[in-house]
Amino acid sequence: MNNTLKIREIVARGYVNPSKLPGYDYVINPYVGCPHRCMYCYAEFMKRFSNHDEPWGTFTDVKIRSTSVKPVDLRGKNVFLSSVTDCYNPLEEKYRLTRRLLEQLRPCGAKITILTKSSLVLRDLDIFKTLPEVTVGVSANTADDSLRWETEPGACSALERLYVLKTLRENGIKNWMHVAPVFPHLSDWKALLEAAAEFTDSFSFENLKLRGAALPRVMLFITQKHPQLKPMYEQIYQQNDLSYWSSLRKEILAFCNQRKLAASVFFSENGPQEI
Ligand code: SF4
Repeated sequence: MNNTLKIREIVARGYVNPSKLPGYDYVINPYVGCPHRCMYCYAEFMKRFSNHDEPWGTFTDVKIRSTSVKPVDLRGKNVFLSSVTDCYNPLEEKYRLTRRLLEQLRPCGAKITILTKSSLVLRDLDIFKTLPEVTVGVSANTADDSLRWETEPGACSALERLYVLKTLRENGIKNWMHVAPVFPHLSDWKALLEAAAEFTDSFSFENLKLRGAALPRVMLFITQKHPQLKPMYEQIYQQNDLSYWSSLRKEILAFCNQRKLAASVFFSENGPQEI
């Protein structure tokens, strides 16, 4: 873990919050901030709500407890962990907040979905086996660990993520791979699918969207590390040419159909509408 990470223990107003994500009623974020430091992070807007001046990725607030006593009826509800952090980020090893929350959710009858980039999720296999309904997803944008290192320096390797999916399958836990975010002309999504197909229930795909500080950060990375791709990235992200995504969408669906892989493609410009 990053040694300069600023960690603050805080009292949250509540753990369970209504969700705006399609398909989920509630979301739980046990942490504010995320040590994974993904180059494209979509959660950076949370800085506005967290009273931090430090750059995103250099701090994490740990919600050690909550002031809320208001019970939420979660029977039959879809609950997602997590939307603006990774609930199995390295701090979870010490704080065990996600584990504790899952234990508390067990009798609630909620349908739980977890998405992570961390092999720490395997620690809680024992709990997953006792939950009425749980699906665990692993997010990955590449099978190439040098690209993984450049884009998601704090998260675990591509190989470890495949191991997580395989272990989930071996333990009878429903799993899926979220191939995301797909970096144009860089993410080797076919290699990921071929490596994971044998032990993964389904695949979903999300395209790279660049908002706020992520746009100049990723464009600088492309300019410095992949200058031959700069004109293509400018076409997509500065001239808003969406044709790359619509043809990639067709290619992904044809590839998955041919191999009989269950796949959903969630490509959008900035909202939920599909390209
Ligand atoms: S794992 Fe998610 S929340 Fe954490 S830095 Fe990466 S994109 Fe952001």
